[in-house]
Amino acid sequence: MNRHLRVSVDLSSIRKNFRILKERLGKLSLQLQKTLIIGVVKADAYGHGAIEVSKVLVKEGIDFLAVAYLEEAIALREEGINIPIIVLFEEPDPQKYLRYDLRAVIHEEKTISFLEKTIKTSSPPFRVHVKIDTGMGRLGFVPDDAILILQRLANIKGLRVEGIMSHFSEAELSNKDSAKRQIAIFNDICIKAKRIFGDNLICHMANSAAIFSIPEACLSGVRPGLMFYGYLPGSLEEKSLSPAMKVSTRLLTIRKVKKGTPISYGGTFVTNRESLVGIIKAGYADGLMRSLSNKGYVLFQGKRAPIIGRICMDLTMIDLTEILKEPAITYPSIEEEVVIIGSQDNETITAKDLSRWANTIPYEILTTFGGLGKRIYENHGYDKKRD
Ligand SMILES: *Cc1c(COP(=O)(O)O)cnc(C)c1O
Repeated sequence: MNRHLRVSVDLSSIRKNFRILKERLGKLSLQLQKTLIIGVVKADAYGHGAIEVSKVLVKEGIDFLAVAYLEEAIALREEGINIPIIVLFEEPDPQKYLRYDLRAVIHEEKTISFLEKTIKTSSPPFRVHVKIDTGMGRLGFVPDDAILILQRLANIKGLRVEGIMSHFSEAELSNKDSAKRQIAIFNDICIKAKRIFGDNLICHMANSAAIFSIPEACLSGVRPGLMFYGYLPGSLEEKSLSPAMKVSTRLLTIRKVKKGTPISYGGTFVTNRESLVGIIKAGYADGLMRSLSNKGYVLFQGKRAPIIGRICMDLTMIDLTEILKEPAITYPSIEEEVVIIGSQDNETITAKDLSRWANTIPYEILTTFGGLGKRIYENHGYDKKRD
């Protein structure tokens, strides 16, 4: 696809964010047992590139990776990534999982019946993690059934329960009541499960939000995703994290229009003064969501330029009247850089800003821009002096 949008990923930010996590978990040290880090790289590492991101994380010493589907895990194996990988959301096919040395997540009874019939006792064991629904209301066994289910799994020869897991529904809220209820339910099951499987059982629940706001959620394992890419969800902020993705495009042209000129489809914006309207080479086909029409900003010459009128498929209009004050218009050279996510001079727009303006979440912004195909990587290597 020959579009003008440029999506770049700074791998040194991923590295820095990983180190911040390590330091944080080190400081918590609420338990003698080390907290394993299970890095979530589903959806092509939230649009940053699962292979490139995973290679950085593996080099940094991450313990496990997790993906949504089997094909994502196989793609990592084919790139030579050989640390344990958990496949979060796929019905396990033991043959394939064993061939690629993958961990399955068991979350429903029919899978257990299937495994009881099909698992061979040959080595190596088929390793699984068991999901408990402590309040997310998505996948998993209900807490009341958990122990019986675990005992049943303990009886399958050739199968090894390596971990049990649960997922928060709203760990990013300032009111932690619901998250704490989930932790209490899960902890109770963990204690009982360790009596069956031993103290090495990995109990993991915390996502990025929980790791950075509920220390007691960091059990023997944590499952962060978003924080690696430089963000925390909701109202949580962590200034030390560095956003890894930058998105930019180019200016197509600038027009001087009279006061009272309707701009773009439907004339939803009408100039209230003589205006300089910039037209940029990006539209909703490039991930610049149409819901940002008349709401969002982009950066031009280091300043925030408001998006005016409706965003089109390939083009978006921005108001440059303030930035390029008359009469000293030195029309910028066409093709000047316009930043959608990232910094220009001293001004910054983050995926989180964009998500607020578009009434969505940073996850959707990152996966949308990152999923467009062309990505450029910066800072692959290690700088010997600085790293
Ligand atoms: C996506 C996901 C995570 C990671 O969540 P973040 O909010 O990105 O840290 C953890 N666990 C499961 C089951 C997930 O689906």
